[in-house]
Amino acid sequence: MASPVFIEPDLEFIAQINSGPGLNLKKCYQCATCSVACAISHDDHPFPRKEMIYASWGLKDRLIANPDIWLCYNCGDCSTLCPRDARPGDVLNRLRKMSIKEYSKPAAMHQLFNDNRKMPWLFIIPALIIITLGFATGLMNLSLGGDRIVFAHFFPVPLIEMIFIPLSLGVTLVFFLGIRRFLKDMQTTYARLGKATPGPIDFKRFLVTLITQLPAIIKHERFSSCSENKGRKISHMMVAYSFTSLAFVAGAFVFALYVLNSHGPYDQINPVKILANISGIALIAGSLLLIKERRANARQANGYYDWYLLCLALFLGITGMLTQALRLADISWAAYSMYFIHLLFAFNLVAFLPYTKLAHLVYRTVAIAYYHYRKEETRLINLENKPIN
Ligand code: SF4
Ligand code: SF4
Repeated sequence: MASPVFIEPDLEFIAQINSGPGLNLKKCYQCATCSVACAISHDDHPFPRKEMIYASWGLKDRLIANPDIWLCYNCGDCSTLCPRDARPGDVLNRLRKMSIKEYSKPAAMHQLFNDNRKMPWLFIIPALIIITLGFATGLMNLSLGGDRIVFAHFFPVPLIEMIFIPLSLGVTLVFFLGIRRFLKDMQTTYARLGKATPGPIDFKRFLVTLITQLPAIIKHERFSSCSENKGRKISHMMVAYSFTSLAFVAGAFVFALYVLNSHGPYDQINPVKILANISGIALIAGSLLLIKERRANARQANGYYDWYLLCLALFLGITGMLTQALRLADISWAAYSMYFIHLLFAFNLVAFLPYTKLAHLVYRTVAIAYYHYRKEETRLINLENKPIN
C-alpha cells in the first residue's frame, strides 16, 4: 500500500497568485487540456497542468524554484484552449514574477515596480543621485558654451563612471547571490520530486551545458514553437537584439575612450555609430510592435509590471535618438536636457534590472540550462544502470 502524502498548503501563496489580474485557481478542474495544448511542454514531465494543481494546493516549495515554470514563454496557447478560463499561462507568468521576488533581494525593491503610484520615485531617485554626486564632486558643468555640443562637458566621464560602475557591480552581486540560491533550490526541488539525484550540482558540467544551450536560447528557438508566438517573434527579437547590440556599442565606446584615447563625438558614418543608430531605431520599432501586440491580445493578462518594461525600452530608445537629433540640430539646451533624461532611463534600466521583467533573461537562461543539465544527468545514470548483455 502506498504511504500517505501530507501536504501543507501555503494559503498566502495561493492568495498571492489569485491576486493577479483575472486569476482564480479554483476554476481549474484538472482536465489537462493545457498540457496537451502547449507545444513546448515535454513528454517526460508535461506542464502546465501539474503546476496548476501545485498552485491550487499552495505547494510553494514545488513551484518557486521549479525550472519548469521557466520553460514557458507565456504565449497564451493553453489559456486560449482552457475550457474553464483558468489562464494557466498567466498563472505561470505570475509564478515567475514571484520567483524573481524570492531570489532578487532586497524584497523591498520589488514594491517599487508593483505600485504605479511609486513610479515617480523610479526617476526622482536617480535624478537626486546624479545631481547630488555631480555637485558634490564639482564634476557636473552647467555653464555650457563652446562651438559644439559635447555631452562629456556636461557630464564628464569620471562622473558617469562614479555612478554606473558601482551600480553595475551592485546589480551583478544581486544576481550572483540570487542565482546561487536559485540553483541550489532548483536542485532541492527536483530531488524532492524524484527528478534529480540529491546532492550538489557539478558546476563544471552545468557551465558546459549553459554554454551549449546559449545559441538556442539566443535564437529563441523554443519561443516560436507556440502558435500564438509566431507573430510576436519579430518584435521580440528586435527588442532583444537591439539591447544586445547597444550593449556592444557601449563597450566599443568605452574601448575607444580608454584604449584608443578617442573622446568623440563620432561621425555619423562611423560603423559603430551606424550600428548604434540602427539598434536605436530597432528598439523603438520593436517596443511599439510589442505594445501593439500586447494591447491586441485580450487573452494575456497585462499588469503594470509588464507595461513598465515595455515603456522603459520605448522611452530609452526615443530619448537616445532625440538626444542625437537635438545635438545634430545644434539646440544645446534641449540636447543637454534630453541627455539628462536619457541618463535617467539608462539608470533605471541598469539599477532595477534584477527586479523588473528583464531579470527573466537571467533566471530563464539559468533554469533552461539547469533543465538540460538534469536531463543529461538522468541519461548518464540510465546508461550506468543499463544491464550489459
Ligand atoms: S488550467 Fe484549464 S486546461 Fe489546464 S487543467 Fe485546469 S481547467 Fe484544464
Ligand atoms: S503559455 Fe504557452 S508556453 Fe506557457 S504553458 Fe501555456 S502554451 Fe505552454
